[in-house]
Parts: sequence; C-alpha cells; structure tokens
Amino acid sequence: MNDSTDTQAQFEPKTGNEALWKQVFAVGAPDLQKMQRLNKLLPSDPRCKLCNAPFAGIGGLYMRLRGKGRNNRNPNFCNACDAFIEANPGGAEIDLSMLFVDIRGSTDYADHANPLDVSQRINAFLDTATKIINDNNGFINAFYGDCVVAAWPPGFSGAAHPDLCLATAKQLARHSITDHEGKIIPVGVGAHTGSMYISVVSAAKGTFRDVSVFGANVNLTARLASKADAAEALVSEELLNAAGHELPIENKRELTLKGFDKPVTAYSI
Ligand SMILES: [Zn+2]
Repeated sequence: MNDSTDTQAQFEPKTGNEALWKQVFAVGAPDLQKMQRLNKLLPSDPRCKLCNAPFAGIGGLYMRLRGKGRNNRNPNFCNACDAFIEANPGGAEIDLSMLFVDIRGSTDYADHANPLDVSQRINAFLDTATKIINDNNGFINAFYGDCVVAAWPPGFSGAAHPDLCLATAKQLARHSITDHEGKIIPVGVGAHTGSMYISVVSAAKGTFRDVSVFGANVNLTARLASKADAAEALVSEELLNAAGHELPIENKRELTLKGFDKPVTAYSI
C-alpha cells in the first residue's frame, strides 16, 4: 500500500467557508441532496463525485447539453461542481465514517506477471471496489495505486453512515472481487468513524482540485487497513458502536499502530 499520509501531503487542505462545507458534508444541502438522488437514477457511470451527474450513456449526453459535462481539468467533477469548488475553497471538521481497501501481495504478483495482467487486475479491483462503494452511498475520496479510500460524510451519505461504511467493509473483504481471469483478488480493509477535516484541496498551481479528508482518524483508518490480512476487515470499536453492531469479543484485537501512542482496539470482521 502507498502511504496515504505521504500522498496526501502533496495537497494543501484549504480553510474557510466552514459553515458552507459543514452544510454540504455534515448536514446536507437540500437542493444538492435532491440533485444527487435524481442524478443517480440516470445512466450511467462514471459520475460527478459531488452531484452524481452521469458522464456516460444517455444521461451523460443530457448533462453535457445542460452544461454539466465532465470537467477537463478535474475529471472527478462536472463543470458546475468544479466551478462551485473553485469559488468556495475551504472545509470543515465533521464526524464521518471512512475506509481504506487495498490489494494484498501486489508486489509478489507483479514480480511474476506481465505488466498487462498487472494493469488489468488493478483495473478490475478499482472497478468492483468503486461499484460496491457507490452502491452503498460512499464518497470516493481517492485512488492511490492499488488502494481505494472512501468516506461516508453524513450530508452526502445520510445519518446511517456508520452502517453503510461497515456493510461496505464486509462486502469488500468477503472475497467478492475477481480479476480479468476470474481469480480472487485478496484485499484487506480498515474502517473507522470519527471527527475528520474534509476539505477542498488543490495542486499544480490550483489547476487540479479535489475534496479530501485529513486528520489523525484518517491515519488510523489507513493503519488499520495496513494491518488487515487478506479477506479481513479490521473495524474500529468506534465504528461498530456507531453502527449498533455487537462487539465480537473472540475477534477483538489490541493493535499497536505506527504514529499512535496507545493501542487501538479493533475487531476482525
Ligand atoms: Zn457535479
């Protein structure tokens, strides 16, 4: 796995417009939520990360005609959302759920496979993981090589964000992802809930913008994923409690994680 915190350091989180971003990601802006629901019904993927406007299929054509086509510089967003993000740099500290999922043993596989197989396998993983996350109302935060990071901000995913994040962690870990040859891709998952700073980020002289999540709880989630075995989700006690899930004592782990002084309690799910 790439070190997410090192990768994140390439981007500067923005401050400001706190009330606005709290509304969007913690509470939910009613007009935006309505648009997100309606857009999700239109075909087809891929979609704008923020408003769910489809970029492909007949829905994509309709959006292009309405000026909401895929933005050239920031392909994760439609033109309207890119303009909104540019006009409102900033972020807010909110409670949200998050997971990291990555492929186990990628380096060993790459040592014994040709580059085309390696790339097809990673693409199969990214496609399936993205679909599972989107089906559970997750907000794709980032792709780092063979790792996907997803967040469930309540303003985007709803009040049941811990349940949705936990359900996704289980689905991802349950050997549901196969490669282009039908072979199982082993993945490990880390999932957690807590207070994090969600913010607009920009790089390359402001030409590329995205929305990302920062803070000690993000690092904790990444570290949990790095400790998970193949087909295992390591879920923090906070997330299981928030989802109203029983604590399976037989699967309890006290983990020493890099950058954390105290052991972290997690459960293997
Ligand atoms: Zn959009």
